Amino acid sequence: MSTPPNIIFIMADDHASKAISAYGYGINHTPNIDRLAHEGMRLNHCYVTNSICTPSRAAILTGTYNHVNCVTTLRTPINNQLPNVAKHLQNNGYQTAIIGKWHLGEGKDHEPTGFDYWSVLPGQGDYFDPHFIEMGTEKEIKGYATNIITEKSLEWLGSRDLSKPFFLMCHHKAPHREWEPDPKYRNMFNEDVQVPDTFDDDYKNRAKAAAAAKMRIKDDITYSDLGLVQPEGGSEIGERATLKSNRRKIPNPTELSNFKLIDKHTGEAFTFNSPDELHHFKYQRYIKRYLATIASIDDSVGSILQFLDDNNLADNTIVIYTSDQGFFLGEHGWFDKRFIYEESFQMPFLIRYPDGIKPGQVCEDICCNVDFAPTFLDYAGVVIPTYMQGDSLRPLFESRTPEDWPQIAYHRYWMHKDPDHNAYAHYGIRNQRYKLIYWYNEGFDLPGTNEGGEDQEWELFDCQEDPMELFNLYHDPEYKLVVEEMTQLLNQKMLSIGDRIEH
Ligand code: CA
Repeated sequence: MSTPPNIIFIMADDHASKAISAYGYGINHTPNIDRLAHEGMRLNHCYVTNSICTPSRAAILTGTYNHVNCVTTLRTPINNQLPNVAKHLQNNGYQTAIIGKWHLGEGKDHEPTGFDYWSVLPGQGDYFDPHFIEMGTEKEIKGYATNIITEKSLEWLGSRDLSKPFFLMCHHKAPHREWEPDPKYRNMFNEDVQVPDTFDDDYKNRAKAAAAAKMRIKDDITYSDLGLVQPEGGSEIGERATLKSNRRKIPNPTELSNFKLIDKHTGEAFTFNSPDELHHFKYQRYIKRYLATIASIDDSVGSILQFLDDNNLADNTIVIYTSDQGFFLGEHGWFDKRFIYEESFQMPFLIRYPDGIKPGQVCEDICCNVDFAPTFLDYAGVVIPTYMQGDSLRPLFESRTPEDWPQIAYHRYWMHKDPDHNAYAHYGIRNQRYKLIYWYNEGFDLPGTNEGGEDQEWELFDCQEDPMELFNLYHDPEYKLVVEEMTQLLNQKMLSIGDRIEH
């Protein structure tokens, strides 16, 4: 029998596929991450079950949906007595480690289990001089988080037991908000990044949730997020905290003429001649900081691939690069995630395994993050336990996708109207052509609308004809049959995974 493959699972936090050059959008250059695509496979339709950090991580670790693992929100830590993929691998001869972001809770009931070695950031962690909880002991480490996580990963790989296969989860904090780049990359983008076509979206023809969300770069991003401070006594135009009651406020010319922002690192001052100029400036600050944090992750992937090359481990090691979900990079005017809309729903996923996956392939099949754990076990030769709800992706990676592969992804978001983002709870499905979304609007209380869940809304998008998801077709008589078919698929999916149908 051949030696089971090693598995290195590299996961970033909030890294949209659009910000990986292998996905072809051209807004940044990630040569090391791209190597995985060129030397392996790129997935174009990998989706998250719940587009926020903590639930996605629980789904990945356990191979179950969030109503089953009970990690439905950012405030529901994992019960670490549950079985997880690391425990199964550990019990079957693998040495296991997790380094970096955990975000599934702290203390003896929630800290990592199933790992021979763990060193994780408490909560979200810090970009500079972060604290780590290492096997239960907290300590501060000087430096930049991405580089420290890389060094720790390389140290663990270098000191591992050579007689065993290994499973390493290397989880970066970047490019999570507040997007603090390594100082050496702060000014790496001289040219402006192209503004997305939907940046000025008016949210017409959509459910109310889109207009209600407080995720707009224009109105809701803070200057602190952008590495900016205001001079003492200066006007506070646009800072989210000041706009709670009047968040659509457009600064008037007098306000703008007295308004100034200061770069917190360099002291450079910025002034603005028009609201548009201020909005454009915010977008550029946001996207450049976001992309600059990714430059350090790309370096990290390069170092790990170099280690595998130097130690003759590349052929028999599966290397995956993904993110806990996608992210809005100005599409619909937004930053952040949470929604089943494509930009935050889609996860980047690249995999290289020279012994088992042919180079330069692209997979168009639909899969999701509950499939990851069964996939690891399949490659490790471990029986996939029946409690896991996902399917091994190995047949897809070996270009033998079964005829009856589901080609459907399910998403559910529970944190209805969380105070920071005001994103509405919803669930829905996407298949190869359409996306159906149900907004149950529980406690819906925008002025002029009904109270108490009587104003549920549905959306149907044609993913092929309307990839930007700008036209809700749910009430279009021409799509009556499609609505019926998609509703049936949604019901079947919810029944099969045991989630409660609310519609
Ligand atoms: Ca995240």
